[in-house]
Amino acid sequence: MVVDSSALSLPANEKFAKALQFIEEMTKNADKVQEKVLAEILAQNANTEYLQRFKLDGATDGYTFKSRVPIVTYEDLQPEIQRIANGDRSPIFCSHPISEFLTSSGTSAGERKLMPTIRQEMDRRQLLYSLLMPVMNLYVPDLDKGKGLYFLFVKAETKTPGGLLARPVLTSYYKSDHFKTRPYDPYNVYTSPDEAILCPDSFQSMYTQMLCGLLMREDVLRVGAVFASGLLRAIKFLQQNWRHLAHDISTGSLNPRVTDLSIKERMAKILKPNPNLAEFIVNECEGENWERIIPRIWPNTKYLDVIVTGAMAQYIPLLDFYSGGLPQACTMYASSECYFGLNLKPMTKPSEVSYTIMPNMGYFEFIPHDPANPVYPNRETVDLADVEVGREYELVVTTYSGLCRYRVGDILRVTEFHNSAPQFKFVRRKNVLLSIDADKTDESELQKAVENASVLLKDFNTTVVEYTSFADTSTIPGHYVIYWELLVKDPVNAPSDDVLAKCCFVMEESMNSVYRQCRVADNSVGPLEIRVVKNGTFEEVMDYAISRGASINQYKAPRCVSFTPIVELLDARVVSAYFSPAAPYWTPERRV
Ligand code: AMP
Repeated sequence: MVVDSSALSLPANEKFAKALQFIEEMTKNADKVQEKVLAEILAQNANTEYLQRFKLDGATDGYTFKSRVPIVTYEDLQPEIQRIANGDRSPIFCSHPISEFLTSSGTSAGERKLMPTIRQEMDRRQLLYSLLMPVMNLYVPDLDKGKGLYFLFVKAETKTPGGLLARPVLTSYYKSDHFKTRPYDPYNVYTSPDEAILCPDSFQSMYTQMLCGLLMREDVLRVGAVFASGLLRAIKFLQQNWRHLAHDISTGSLNPRVTDLSIKERMAKILKPNPNLAEFIVNECEGENWERIIPRIWPNTKYLDVIVTGAMAQYIPLLDFYSGGLPQACTMYASSECYFGLNLKPMTKPSEVSYTIMPNMGYFEFIPHDPANPVYPNRETVDLADVEVGREYELVVTTYSGLCRYRVGDILRVTEFHNSAPQFKFVRRKNVLLSIDADKTDESELQKAVENASVLLKDFNTTVVEYTSFADTSTIPGHYVIYWELLVKDPVNAPSDDVLAKCCFVMEESMNSVYRQCRVADNSVGPLEIRVVKNGTFEEVMDYAISRGASINQYKAPRCVSFTPIVELLDARVVSAYFSPAAPYWTPERRV
């Protein structure tokens, strides 16, 4: 066990000192805290239908729990979750009333997973948030001398048949009193007014947040969004809207596309004519060169606050380009199921980021994961304090809201220990083939989409012989590219351009609701593209893989590619390309 508490020993003030001390206490006693958390959860939920089923008979220890309660996936719990959604208020998973559902960006049968949550969990999440600035302050001082320009958004919410709200965890947080009536904290002053963050119209919200960021540009000390893709979307928005924004700043009048009354009222107090600032913005934005645009417009920015680990790593080069290499701080690791932990060294470069799971947030177990043999061989789980440096594990969580031994789907690698608490590199999410923003598309979803689109080719005696995919993030927003090798049996009656464009659309319609929401409501994913490649291309891809050591017998065409030489090979063989001509269907309502 490596003991390293030096980084946390320089408190800036009493509140921060207390927070750092709390982190030390939790991480020094990871195993004891975990035991206590499990005992609390099991005692709290002892009389629930779910735990009663496994006859714990009042036991609250790890051994009994693990030997009697099974490890589960979302699909295992779905019947009970559906009952709660339909209005069953009996204590099914949790003895506390379910306050709402958090909708995960992970999907099941094409719809967001519904995670039941309780009111008390908000306090636990708040606690983790309260630890972020004390840690950051150790590395970046004086953040109380200015503001944060954060692009934060609420998303659509729905009600389940039984009347419970279903919405993403951050939407739930921004709409809560915890956020709306937060006491003034000089370390957490945002340029964005709450009215803009809470506006459900993404254009009006983004426009106002960008406008305020520009108006207060000298005050901005950090620029952020939840994920890297969100920050890049904001830059793109500035590229598309700087003339309107500069006009508003020059004249002191708000763009008529912003119609939200609470925003208009708030902006009437903030927006005053400032022709000099408008001229500055025009000068910076009208040229072709957008390199270093972030420090050019916000010269006092000390770092970017965005998650660039996991699927978001693909955006690091572009963020470097726009920020002139400003540090990219990944501060926390969280999910709808449970907020897990934080990065105790937030200034480390993205490839070296590790998150420390806070033992007070839930009860954590780890399924050893062998990258060479990813099927779970029914082995015992390992406790938080017992994982080994260098090994990979799949995270399993038991929460106060009533999830028991739930497989989150994340693969983590232990990098080192902080006191007795392990630190984890986020390796990847299981079964995700393609991801641009919050969307996560797995192999079977892609297969189904290709099958559905292929139906259109039947009339033309054409089949898809082989396909693969690529998340193209060279433009913002990024989009899915599907490479198709076709067998056209009757070249005189080959599918037309229109038919192939329609195939793109059918594929999009087949995707899960998070993908379609990104396309329709958030504009965070661009139209899907099919690139038809020359016959024989996939054989070349195979030859290439074999020349690099793949076994001929076991070779299967990859369903997603990211390795540049393969993408280049495919692109060099493209004979025609098609884009989806329309956005797919999406509403916040779930399909039943
Ligand atoms: P959701 O349930 O939609 O809130 O998504 C939670 C998932 O997002 C986690 O299980 C991870 O797969 C991913 N995620 C959250 N935080 C991070 C992070 N800091 N780095 C990489 N992936 C993350």
